[in-house]
Amino acid sequence: MSEDEKLRIAIIGGGIGGLSAAHELLKAGHEVELFERAPFLGGQVVTFPIADTRLEYAYHHLFTSDTIIQELMAELGISDRLEWYPSKTGWFQGGRIYPFVSPMDLLRFRPLHPWNRLRLGLVVLFLQRYDNWKRLEGTTATRWMRRWAGSDAYDHVWEPLMRGKFGSRAEDVSMAWLWGKIHLRTTSRKGVNKEVLGYPKGSFAVIVDALECSIRDKGGVIHTGASVERILTEPVGNGERLRATGIHADGRDLRFDRVISTIPSNRFLAIAPPLGEEYERKLKAGQYQGALCMLLVMSRPLSDTYWMNIGEEDFPFVALIEHTNFVPKEWYGGKHILYVSNYLSTRDDYWRKSDEELLEAYEPYLRRINSEFSRDWIESCFVFREPAAQPIVTPNYSPLVPELQTPVEHLILANTTQIYPEDRGTNYSVRLGRQAARVATGREP
Ligand SMILES: Cc1cc2nc3c(=O)[nH]c(=O)nc-3n(C[C@H](O)[C@H](O)[C@H](O)COP(=O)(O)OP(=O)(O)OC[C@H]3O[C@@H](n4cnc5c(N)ncnc54)[C@H](O)[C@@H]3O)c2cc1C
Repeated sequence: MSEDEKLRIAIIGGGIGGLSAAHELLKAGHEVELFERAPFLGGQVVTFPIADTRLEYAYHHLFTSDTIIQELMAELGISDRLEWYPSKTGWFQGGRIYPFVSPMDLLRFRPLHPWNRLRLGLVVLFLQRYDNWKRLEGTTATRWMRRWAGSDAYDHVWEPLMRGKFGSRAEDVSMAWLWGKIHLRTTSRKGVNKEVLGYPKGSFAVIVDALECSIRDKGGVIHTGASVERILTEPVGNGERLRATGIHADGRDLRFDRVISTIPSNRFLAIAPPLGEEYERKLKAGQYQGALCMLLVMSRPLSDTYWMNIGEEDFPFVALIEHTNFVPKEWYGGKHILYVSNYLSTRDDYWRKSDEELLEAYEPYLRRINSEFSRDWIESCFVFREPAAQPIVTPNYSPLVPELQTPVEHLILANTTQIYPEDRGTNYSVRLGRQAARVATGREP
């Protein structure tokens, strides 16, 4: 590439999306500087050291359908770190944990009337094979499921699952989103009765570290603890349009040819120039549910299930993810790792509770799962709060997805609200980062 063609590009955000965009641009020969507000990289896949390894503050795994991130791992020479394990999913209801992996598990699922189990199985089978998600876009998952799977299946299975991801906004979610969850999850099955999930030995930090190394090796510059406060612009044409010329960070104006932002839409609106009524409407439509995830490092296991959906409405959390029922506890010095998961609005009372208050609220419910559970089992407790964890995908979402190329020339947006109809995840942040790189360099409109 000639010096004339070489672009100087600023990337805002050092999560998987921003790092993937930087990696892609450097491969193409451009100059890149990445700005991350936190003192570390990784964004939502932030990890901490434990025993001789690292661990995510919020549970993470991959599906076999997550092929883009697997390709990236191969490119970075770290494919051998990815290991696949059976998923051991369960469902807690009426004081019992039901296995919830295979069609046989569904047929034995007592909370549902036998005929409704069969009906639910047929609906899932249909969605696994159905490709035309656009036809499901206009309705909510609640309405569609009540109609086709029936109210019994909705109340006992789908409602708890949807509430588990969207809290009080569960009934607003599009059927296209649920289609994406069911359709893609099928491809993570090994035969009829088994599902496998992937996890990199050494944690997702292995991917973040490899991206960081690749960026630095190719001459990219990474600034951590560097919050971007404003995107700089100049007028173009007759002053009717704006063009991005750089960013303001660390009290300085820094000039760039292109700016790619990977931060949540609400934060982007706060630092972006005027983007026009239409585009700003799309950004405001992109609302999020927050994730409140408690991590307990324990001396004993709570259950033998990896992923336990909670079917009881009175529980103050929505799922339990016992990481060491998925990967070996020996990686963590023999400790048991339990995540207590909640998705809720940042206005919810629980969001404001201290770590101790949260633990106090959760404790009696953990004892309902295992009556022997005691605080003495807990060796450490961390609480991870991410306000922009889960985009709320409402019916007819397609026209609300903001374009990557914003109305401001040379300013590109790539965040999780643009992942659709798939559910957000690291795999799709890699895809989005690559796409942002192509848009920034004019290889994609
Ligand atoms: C509880 C939970 C469980 C999950 N489980 C899974 C899973 O099992 N599998 C999976 O694949 N995915 C999972 N995900 C989703 C996955 O982690 C995210 O989709 C992905 O990491 C998002 O990456 P990103 O780069 O798009 O955004 P982010 O990770 O949010 O990165 C954005 C970055 O921008 C930075 N930033 C914000 N404002 C500024 C500013 N002004 N200046 C500079 N930097 C700024 C932030 O600090 C952040 O680091 C989970 C997420 C959560 C919350």
